[in-house]
Amino acid sequence: MMIAWSEMPTKTNLKDKPNRQRRGVASSETAREINRDFVLHAIHRHQPVSRADLARLTGLQPSTVSVIIGLLIDEGWVLPGTLGRLPRGRRPTFLTLNDRHVTLAIDLRPGNASLAVVDINGRFLIRETVPLSAHRDSKAEVRQAVMKIAEAARTLQDTFRERSFAGVGVSVSGRVEQKTHHVLFAPNVSWTQVDLHSELQRVLESPIELENAANACLLAERWFGDHGEASNVIVVSVSDGLGTGLLVDGRMARGKDDMAGEFGHMPLEHSGPVCGCGNSGCWETFASNRAALRYYRELAPETSVGTFKEVLDLAIGGDIRALRSIDKMATCLARGLTILVAGLAPELVIIVGDCTALWSRICPILESEIIAKSFTSHRPRIVAAMDGDAARLRGAAALVLHKVLFTREEIEPLDQASGRRGDRLATASRK
Ligand SMILES: [Zn+2]
Repeated sequence: MMIAWSEMPTKTNLKDKPNRQRRGVASSETAREINRDFVLHAIHRHQPVSRADLARLTGLQPSTVSVIIGLLIDEGWVLPGTLGRLPRGRRPTFLTLNDRHVTLAIDLRPGNASLAVVDINGRFLIRETVPLSAHRDSKAEVRQAVMKIAEAARTLQDTFRERSFAGVGVSVSGRVEQKTHHVLFAPNVSWTQVDLHSELQRVLESPIELENAANACLLAERWFGDHGEASNVIVVSVSDGLGTGLLVDGRMARGKDDMAGEFGHMPLEHSGPVCGCGNSGCWETFASNRAALRYYRELAPETSVGTFKEVLDLAIGGDIRALRSIDKMATCLARGLTILVAGLAPELVIIVGDCTALWSRICPILESEIIAKSFTSHRPRIVAAMDGDAARLRGAAALVLHKVLFTREEIEPLDQASGRRGDRLATASRK
């Protein structure tokens, strides 16, 4: 899956895409797909919204908007809602996305799986965590974990029988080759032991969208977040490991075999701790949840604290040693981030992870380090993903929505589309 936010498909770049070539360039079908995606996106962003406002927002002819809305209502994605009020003339009908549609979102981590039912607007209807054994060294153990997840998933699906499940989205701490759905690289978990995609698809009897957690969070930001207009974004997902999702000039950086984004394994200190990847001193050995736990144990050798969550809770409660551990983790996070910022020049950096519960403490550390090392006046905004540890679940939901709702792979942010509405959209509209 390739996602571009800022590139409106012109005749030229549509032509570059093999699947489009087969159908012909900017055929009427393609134009309809483009317009449909714009209208859907506008409803999502501005609902409840009238047909007239949709025409204004998308730059499409009102008649084109009406035809598309008719189809979306027939397909069940859009609901005609309440009547609006105008000083004179016909009262407009306000349209909303049909929140009967939900996705099952799964976030796979080394020691547990979080599951949630998320509606089309990103609202969590239910959420639960399934503890998993941290040791899954054999195929049998991984399969056992998959069965446990499937059991919990089926219970959730049964609970929301009256809803329509659009699919299952899974975010995973690892890189997923999109062509084969294989988890190619997951140094901190054992999911590479089995064909996770096939296993989940088999037991859940549903199409599965499987993606790296940081990339999923990048997509969730586009769907549900407040920063959909940015074209250069770095998402840093901080958990037991550290992964990044990169939006560069409006396009998600994929790299060969979809392996781009493993900045967690850039070496910061060769004499540092041994990393799950086999090297030593990788960024994630200094800036991940595991690192913070290690720092705390170094400061409190007598402790029985065994998880990052416990360190975090202690820090939130004002424990000095726990706070120092979090500060050190944040300082190391900042060290790596300055390299990424220097190399990629993002407008926006989004930090995802449980640690954002202490954002008021972490954010100033990141900002001051980036300001100190900055060699230009350009400085990115640094924000925490909304709702902290739920961001990866929201990302999993966004994977499914993007797949089932949009006919094309590329979506331009509406704000940019309406800002530049005119020739290209009008052309598409006339086809
Ligand atoms: Zn490493």
